[in-house]
Amino acid sequence: MEKYSSRQLMDIEHRYGAHNYHPLEVVIAKAEGIWVEDPEGKRYIDMLSAYSAVNQGHRHPAIIQALKDQADILTLTSRAFFNDRWPLFARKLSELTGKEMILPMNTGAEAVETAIKTMRKWGYLVKKVEADKAEIIVFCENFHGRTTTIVSFSTDPEGHDFYGPYTPGFTIVPYNDLNAVEKAISKNTVGIMVEPIQGEAGVVVPDEGFLAGLGKIARKHNVLLAMDEIQTGFCRTGKLFAYQHEDVDPDIIIMGKALGGGVFPVSAVAANQDVLGVFKPGTHGSTFGGNPLGCAVAMAAIDVLLKENLAERATEMGGYFMGQLRDLQKKSAKIKLVRGKGLLIGIVLNESAGKARQYTNALKDKGLLCKETHDWIIRFAPPLVITKADIDAAMEKIREVLG
Ligand SMILES: *Cc1c(COP(=O)(O)O)cnc(C)c1O
Repeated sequence: MEKYSSRQLMDIEHRYGAHNYHPLEVVIAKAEGIWVEDPEGKRYIDMLSAYSAVNQGHRHPAIIQALKDQADILTLTSRAFFNDRWPLFARKLSELTGKEMILPMNTGAEAVETAIKTMRKWGYLVKKVEADKAEIIVFCENFHGRTTTIVSFSTDPEGHDFYGPYTPGFTIVPYNDLNAVEKAISKNTVGIMVEPIQGEAGVVVPDEGFLAGLGKIARKHNVLLAMDEIQTGFCRTGKLFAYQHEDVDPDIIIMGKALGGGVFPVSAVAANQDVLGVFKPGTHGSTFGGNPLGCAVAMAAIDVLLKENLAERATEMGGYFMGQLRDLQKKSAKIKLVRGKGLLIGIVLNESAGKARQYTNALKDKGLLCKETHDWIIRFAPPLVITKADIDAAMEKIREVLG
């Protein structure tokens, strides 16, 4: 294969690729663990983890082995037939989530769409809501994906505008506001869909009791609670799922990203029989959903999380990292706030510090990759296999840029 420089590759992408992203000017050509490398051989610590899709670290050997082994045997059957991987993945994910049934898809947005369809169908068939009147409560600053229905209830103009006509049936209320949720409930409400921490909004952590409160409201009014754990799930915040920090049992768990171990898109919805049972043959599906290659990868990805105690690691390393960042905050005029849980950390900048992009750029030049969300928040979300020594090395760079 012909060798291209980073500059050439960025120019080619700019010429031929649609400009629906604004990447930092770094080309990644190789990766292992927490490290990535550009074509010129410069190494960087990855502190984004593909938006938490690489919790297990880049190219985890056990996950890559599962991919290779399965690729040699069977990759795709469609669900027109049974295959010998999907049943075992379904059982594994059911046992892991404590939910009776699993519906497999590929991308996160597809799993969110599945949850929306589930709540609506449950509303009509079980709760007996009048036809086409179902309402789902969602939250300001939400991020649930990019389909036309999902962007219909986005409050971010960039993600939302110019894609109408928009799908009706969603009521948007302020995040972290239980009164607003209670007030928004009507006889047609079928569900509440929430991120346990709003990642894209800038790692917004709700008050303790918010998620448990949602659970109580959902019970009281006979509506389903759907937890979007696509970014927060799979040990990122120090628990297998972020909702487990509170006493709440969501009806629907939406998963994606790290479920594919950073190698393959695998997403899923988990719920009990009385909820996910609304789907009958032919009523929903996906050609690649439940494909043997994805199932083999996802099973290995789950094993890695459990075997390597990555939840405890995220708690321990996240505590250490956040402590260091808070020490820096005390001495820095640039940092307003450090917030997060486990290894999902947001740094809110002071207005006087200017735009976050200049800092993510400066960190990139020093060999640390992270991304801004909005203009004033920097997110740190390294692979969960990061060590204390790695964090110390990263902190040196962060101190130079944000100190
Ligand atoms: C990334 C993300 C999605 C969408 O997942 P895709 O795989 O990009 O479709 C949905 N919800 C949350 C919370 C996410 O972080």
